[in-house]
Amino acid sequence: MGRITLDKVTKAFGEVEVIPPLDLTIDDGEFVVFVGPSGCGKSTLLRLIAGLEDVSSGEIRIDKQPATHLPPAKRGLAMVFQSYALYPHMSVRKNIAFPMKMAGIPEAEQNRKIEDAARVLNLTDYLDRRPGQLSGGQRQRVAIGRAIVREPAAFLFDEPLSNLDAALRVGMRLEISELHERLKTTMIYVTHDQVEAMTMADKIVVLQKGVIEQVGSPLELYNAPRNIFVAGFIGSPK
Ligand code: ADP
Ligand code: MG
Repeated sequence: MGRITLDKVTKAFGEVEVIPPLDLTIDDGEFVVFVGPSGCGKSTLLRLIAGLEDVSSGEIRIDKQPATHLPPAKRGLAMVFQSYALYPHMSVRKNIAFPMKMAGIPEAEQNRKIEDAARVLNLTDYLDRRPGQLSGGQRQRVAIGRAIVREPAAFLFDEPLSNLDAALRVGMRLEISELHERLKTTMIYVTHDQVEAMTMADKIVVLQKGVIEQVGSPLELYNAPRNIFVAGFIGSPK
C-alpha cells in the first residue's frame, strides 16, 4: 500500500528555507506529478519523501507508519534515476539484479523477478546486453526494471526523461503511464514539463518557491486555476 502523507514538512539548507510548512496527501495507487519551474523545490520534496534528505521539521508517514526518520532502504519506495545511472560494465540482468543482491534475496527468486520485470518492460531479449548496447528508451526501461523488482509501495521519478530526445520522450511517457495502469502502484513523478504533467497525472501538485499553489486533476487545473501563476504555468506552451 502506498499512501504517503506529509504533515507540516519543512526543509532548510542552512539559513535558506526552500520548503515552508507543507501538507500533502498522496493516495494509494495515485499517479501524482510535482510540477513547477526549475529551482522550486520539486527534487527536494521528492528526496525528503525518499529519505535522501532529512526534513528540518514535520512528519512523513508511509502506509500510516511514521517514516520521518527511517533510512531510505526501510521506506519501501523505489527512486527511478535517469538511465545514465546504470552500471555500464554490467549486463542488463545484473543491473536489475543489483538491488536484490544487496538485499540478500536468493538467486532463484532474483531470476524469477528479473524475468517478470523483463516481460513487463519488453526487455526479455536484451538481458545479456550491456547498457551501452541499448537505445535510450531501453536503458530507461532497465532503470525502471531495477525499481520494479523491489516491489515498492511507490515509485519516485525525478525528471526521468529529461536526457532523452523529444520523440523518445513521448514514447516513454506512454510506457510509464501504461506501467502505472498495469501495476496500479503509487507513482510520484517530478517534471518541469507542463505537457508531461497534464498527460500523465491523476493529480498535479503545482509548486512555486517550495509552496503548493494548487493540487488537482489536470482538468481541474485547466478549468479552474486558482491563481495567475497556475494559469500561466499550466496554460503556457512548452
Ligand atoms: P527543482 O528540482 O524544482 O529544480 P530543487 O529541489 O533542486 O528544485 O531546489 C530547490 C532549491 O533548493 C533551489 O534553490 C536549490 O538551489 C536549493 N537546494 C537544493 N539542494 C540543495 C543543497 N543540497 N544545498 C543547498 N541548497 C540546495
Ligand atoms: Mg530537480
